[in-house]
Order: sequence, then structure tokens, then C-alpha cells
Amino acid sequence: MKIGAPKEVGQGESRVAMTPDSALQLQKLGYDCAIETGAGLAAGFSDALYEEAGVEIIKTPAGLWKAVDIIAKVRPPTETEAKRLKHGQLLISFFYPGQNEALMELARSKGASVIAMDMVPRISRAQKMDALSSMANIAGYRAVIEAGNNFGRFFTGQVTAAGKVPPAKVLVVGAGVAGLAAIGTATSLGAITYAFDVRPEVAEQIESMGAEFVFLEFEESGQDSSSTGGYAAPSSPEFREKQLEKFRELAPEMDIVITTALIPGRDAPVLWTKDMVEMMKPGSVIVDLAAERGGNCELTEKDEKIVSDNGVTIIGYTDFPSRMAAQSSTLYSTNIRHMMTDLTPEKDGQVKHDMEDDVIRGATAVHDGEITFPPPPPKVA
Ligand code: NAD
Repeated sequence: MKIGAPKEVGQGESRVAMTPDSALQLQKLGYDCAIETGAGLAAGFSDALYEEAGVEIIKTPAGLWKAVDIIAKVRPPTETEAKRLKHGQLLISFFYPGQNEALMELARSKGASVIAMDMVPRISRAQKMDALSSMANIAGYRAVIEAGNNFGRFFTGQVTAAGKVPPAKVLVVGAGVAGLAAIGTATSLGAITYAFDVRPEVAEQIESMGAEFVFLEFEESGQDSSSTGGYAAPSSPEFREKQLEKFRELAPEMDIVITTALIPGRDAPVLWTKDMVEMMKPGSVIVDLAAERGGNCELTEKDEKIVSDNGVTIIGYTDFPSRMAAQSSTLYSTNIRHMMTDLTPEKDGQVKHDMEDDVIRGATAVHDGEITFPPPPPKVA
């Protein structure tokens, strides 16, 4: 069978779902590989590099979609792209099936199958295919780099002949995958880092990354997330008030605030309010990684960088992984390659779409022209 990656059409999208390296690995699984001409250019991979890796270069998007059995993509297909799906073809990409019912129906009507990389179950065995985590890791790292780029001072404290420089103070709100990556990056640059999460079990991880866990004095010290699959649930109004009170205490001291707080299936909770921004020092920076879902900061504007009246820069970009396209394409294409390994138990270049396999079943949104989303709840071991 042949697997191919088209050039992404989303505005500002620089990632690609197949790199020359991942193509070599896919060939070891027995597949022929193809890309649309220029598909990897924005991520630093020229057609020549793909050709050296034995990848066929196809001139047009329509030609690529027609020529292959498996399409590997980053973003969900546009309507035009989905209309190109053909009977028996498999599409593997981020798909967000819960928000893309019309697309799912289109794929179904074409008799195609869809594996949604955002639906890969978050269990140990599937970590190597967990594209949400690999992209969140990059977003957390890049958020700190972006903050540094907009912050007029050092992260690390220094004593120089020209004067003493205090270290920057960084607060990370939400310590999931992106938050922990942000903590690791900020501490490695020498900042004094603080972090808060509603899930008390992450305190240990926060501290092991070199940050200080911000404790709340509250009767229920946080959430028990074991009943919500490790994810956060909305906080009680009392808990939220305590949390905001704590943030108001911290706001005047913090130079950089990185917010990453999310609750599955909901808008992002507003945790950094306008009055907190007003309390911050001029020159401080907020990077809101929750901007896509409405933002954790009340003033965030999605995809924009704004400066508040008191001189605080607020960044609401939603394309951090694409801003590091070489790295994110490398990791994402590896996630796809691992998915293909699971789909090819015989290494014979033939997909075996095994709906009895928890990981494949969990990620499959459409199978042979039938909608299979949502998947059944994962089996408890
Ligand atoms: P996420 O992106 O859904 O949320 C980010 C963080 O925001 C979470 O840590 C959450 O607790 C926190 N948050 C929510 N509301 C908050 C509030 N009001 N104040 C402060 N923080 C708040 O998280 P994620 O990175 O997708 O990770 C979620 C869970 O999934 C974690 O338990 C993580 O360990 C787990 N996970 C498991 C695997 C795996 O086993 N393969 C992979 C990735 C993540």
C-alpha cells in the first residue's frame, strides 16, 4: 500500500505529517511513500531530501489524494480535501470528531476510514502515538521562549560589573503536559518558577521540575481526579474564589505568567482576571496557551499579541507547535509512524484495522464507511 502526506492548507500551518526519516521507517513496514511537492518545505525538509529517502513526489494535491491508500495529515481535512477521500482510503490526522460531525459524515459517505490522532487513548501503551502530548510539550517550551522574546530582561539572576540583575519570577497555571514543559524550560533558563494546578497529585511533579507548588489553604485541598481519568473537573465557586485570591497576591510579583488550564469538553476557565493584569508590573508578559478555547486570561485575544494599558504583553497565539515546525513535524510524524506500526502487525505494507485493539478502536472515528465515534469507554484492567 502507499501512504502519502499532502502539503497542509491551513493558514500559517508549517508542519508536515511525514518527514524523510519517518518515510524510511514506513518503508521498513512495507509501505511505499509519497508527498505532495513542497509539503515539507516550511518545516525545513526539501523535496530533494524526501527523494533521497525514496519518497515519490507528486505534483498536485488532487494527484496525491488519488494516488495513495493512506493519507497522513496534521490538521483536520478541509471540506475540499475530505471530498477527495475515496472508498477504502484511510485518513490519519488530528480530526476532533466531536466538533466535526459534518466532516465525519462526509468521510462516511465516501466509504473511507478515519483515525483521529487527538482520540488516541492516554494509556501507557499508547504514549508513543500520543500526538496531543508531543504537541503540548512543544507548546509549553515555546510559550516560555515566546515570553522571553517579549520580556525585556534576563530570566536568570546575574551579578555583573554593570549591576545586579534579579532573576525573573514565572508562574505556570495548570501543570499538565504543556505546563510541566513550561516549568522545565523556565527553570532551566534560571527563572524562579511557581506553579499551580487543581489536581494536588501534580505537586510532586511540579517540585521535581524545580518549581514551587502554590498551595491553597482550603478545606478540600484540591480535586480527586481519579474519577475523571486524570483530568480536571470544574472547581467549586468557593475553591475558585480562593484560587483567584491567591493569584491576586502573586500578580504584582510575577514577571511572566503562562496559563495552560483546561477542562475536557469545556471553555477554558478564566483564572487571570483584568484586575490581576492591572496589578502586574509594566514589561511583564502573559502567554495564554488556553487561547484556542477562550483563554485563561480575561484580556486574551485569540491569535493576537496585545499590550495592556499598564504595559503588560498578552500573547494568545494558538500555533506554537507550528512555530517550531521542524521539531513538531519530527515528533508528529513519529507518532504517526508508531500508529502505522500498530496497524501493520505483519510488516507487510498492508493495514490491518483491528477494532479489537483498544488503541486503534479508541482513535477510530470512521471505519469502512461507518461512524464509530464516540468509542466505548476504555476497558478497566
Ligand atoms: P489539559 O491540557 O487537559 O489541562 C491542563 C492542566 O490544567 C491540567 O493539569 C489540569 O489539571 C489543569 N487545570 C484545569 N483547571 C484548572 C484550574 N482551574 N486551575 C489550575 N489548573 C487547572 O491536561 P493534559 O496535559 O492533557 O493532561 C491531563 C491528564 O492526562 C494528566 O493527568 C496527565 O498526566 C494525563 N496524561 C496521561 C498521558 C498518558 O498516560 N499517556 C498522556 C498525557 C496526559
